[in-house]
Amino acid sequence: MSRLDKKAVAKEIDRLFNLALSSEDELLKRSAIRHAVALSRSVRVKIPKKYSLFICRKCLSLLSSSKSARIRVRKNRNWQMVIRCLTCGSVKRIPLKR
Ligand SMILES: [Zn+2]
Repeated sequence: MSRLDKKAVAKEIDRLFNLALSSEDELLKRSAIRHAVALSRSVRVKIPKKYSLFICRKCLSLLSSSKSARIRVRKNRNWQMVIRCLTCGSVKRIPLKR
């Protein structure tokens, strides 16, 4: 796979996420994200962190609204952001750096 192709795929992934984020249609959102994830896996292009934070790894739904996710910030040993997917119930913990 050439470098140009990776660039094109990265662009396409970006486009798909923009589409998913701006759409109101749940079905379209899902298929756009599923497509982006499949692309990134097949070409080994990483999904940008700003997007990957807001995808549920289990059911691939977008955790962008208060309807689809519950976000809490907690302090155990370190500060962390806890995101619970309201679609499948999986919990994702993201350590917060200061
Ligand atoms: Zn989920």
